Amino acid sequence: MKVLVPVKRVIDYNVRIRVAADGSGVDTANVKMSMNPFDEIAVEEAVRLRERGAATEVVVVSCGVAACQDTLRAAMAIGADRAVLVATDAELQPLAVARLLHAVAQREQPGLVICGKQAIDDDASQTGQMLAALLGWGQATFASKLELSDGRAVVTREIDGGLETISVALPALVTTDLRLNEPRYASLPNIMKAKKKPLETLTPEALGVDVTPRLITVRVSEPAKRQSGVKVADVAELVRKLRDEAKVLR
Ligand code: AMP
Repeated sequence: MKVLVPVKRVIDYNVRIRVAADGSGVDTANVKMSMNPFDEIAVEEAVRLRERGAATEVVVVSCGVAACQDTLRAAMAIGADRAVLVATDAELQPLAVARLLHAVAQREQPGLVICGKQAIDDDASQTGQMLAALLGWGQATFASKLELSDGRAVVTREIDGGLETISVALPALVTTDLRLNEPRYASLPNIMKAKKKPLETLTPEALGVDVTPRLITVRVSEPAKRQSGVKVADVAELVRKLRDEAKVLR
């Protein structure tokens, strides 16, 4: 069984995000980019499935600018077998990505797609769900455990107040939560090997997908600055301040 893993190139999670001066978005000039952390977990899970014989091939796919090749190489250094880049400079919104991934899935015919639960740049958490709908497959989102047996995926999901275990018929789509696994560090030999693994480049036009954005970003702004705190002498002063200044007590 083939596993398809969509991976997104995002601003590295360690970078302090700066809003662009004109409020049109965030500043990406000279900023470190990396693989979306939830997608690293997805790649790790797919590679583990192949290592224990539950999958035969792991294919990673990224949609975006040419530099997404670096993200795909990083995924192949973790252990993915080959990569597909859907190259475009256009702004891609989740529905457009889901449509591109749908077209790639139709070519690749995977038995399982593992997405991240959300991309840390747009926090949309939409692409996997829309892709499952386009494919007409069952979906198991926010997975913290994944087991395959008898043509089904048994997935433990993190939900409010506990864990839910569901069983979904394959082919299916799973999205990863943080506790699914801890991705390995790519070793230097594997980084070198990844440079030689196959990377195919497609375009939205070749896939027959219209990626025109449906949404317009009206404005992006910094969160309000937090005011510095003060020390109070005793409980009486705290209660007085909460009542008279913060007005959270009556
Ligand atoms: P989002 O819906 O944007 O929060 O993204 C959820 C997941 O969809 C990500 O964790 C990726 O697995 C996948 N995804 C989103 N955008 C892309 C992209 N441009 N290329 C490949 N995969 C993507």
